[in-house]
Amino acid sequence: MATTERATTERPPADSAADAEQSINESIYRDLHTAIMEHRLLAGTKLVEERLCEVTGASRARIRQVFARLAHEKLVTLIPNRGAFISSPTIEEARQVFQARRMVERELAALLAAEAKPAQIRAMRRHIAEEDAARARGDRAAVIRLSGGFHIVLAELAGNAILEKLVREMVSLTCLIITLYDRPGAPACPEHEHRDLVDAIEARDTARAEALMADHLRHIEGSLDLSVRETGSPDFHSIFHRE
Ligand SMILES: [Zn+2]
Repeated sequence: MATTERATTERPPADSAADAEQSINESIYRDLHTAIMEHRLLAGTKLVEERLCEVTGASRARIRQVFARLAHEKLVTLIPNRGAFISSPTIEEARQVFQARRMVERELAALLAAEAKPAQIRAMRRHIAEEDAARARGDRAAVIRLSGGFHIVLAELAGNAILEKLVREMVSLTCLIITLYDRPGAPACPEHEHRDLVDAIEARDTARAEALMADHLRHIEGSLDLSVRETGSPDFHSIFHRE
């Protein structure tokens, strides 16, 4: 979002003023959402309304609508008199997100193993190929976004809109959690695990698909440092390397 020229090419053609407004909101929402998914907007970042108006050419009212939508998805926190900030989930919230993801996505994996059609398996493998390509060209932002995206693709393929919305929101929150609690150098989703999961789904092995998904989510959670105490004063001696 470095220029004032908004990308108009991705917007679907609008046949009425209301549609046009809707599609501008959607476009701003999508740009912000992608930036969060790619860790280009970090937890705690203030979203300055005037700056966003300037860059997108949209009105304050419109920017506020987008903030409200992101706040509803818990990605943005609105603080009265202070403005909008990218949310900073606590350690407890992070644990809850992973617990919920394990419950929902295990079932999702089993469901796909029981019902996925060959074309759907191909869609999963196409997505994994995109992840591989991003990894090969060293595009870390894309790797992070696509890793989360794999889980959304699975939810889409299950054909349950409620489930899809839920997974989408939990994956976005996971992206924020990773930016806050990642151990340096830890990968996004461990590289081969998506492929192993799709192998199990293709083999119609529901028990294995379910177990692999649970393990996979445990591995992601395990790559985070959720042991930090949230209260107490910071240890400035260690921060400034003074004895
Ligand atoms: Zn994954």
